[in-house]
Amino acid sequence: MSGSLQREKSAEEQQLVHVSTRILITSRTTPCDNCGSEIKLAQRHKYVSITHMEANTDKSLEEAVLCDADCLSDFL
Ligand SMILES: [Zn+2]
Repeated sequence: MSGSLQREKSAEEQQLVHVSTRILITSRTTPCDNCGSEIKLAQRHKYVSITHMEANTDKSLEEAVLCDADCLSDFL
């Protein structure tokens, strides 16, 4: 069982993807950014932040919340 989720990206768009597994102390829910099903933030889920680095603009940050590793690999 190798846990590698790395994929080749085109080199044109420079971006930094950081994935973490997160559990929040809250009763809030949020829709999955891949499949749209409701995620309880108090249960284990994937949090993704993507930093885009473009030549002459400010870097921008994108965030996504995903149910699990399956949605994560679909999303990325
Ligand atoms: Zn999902």
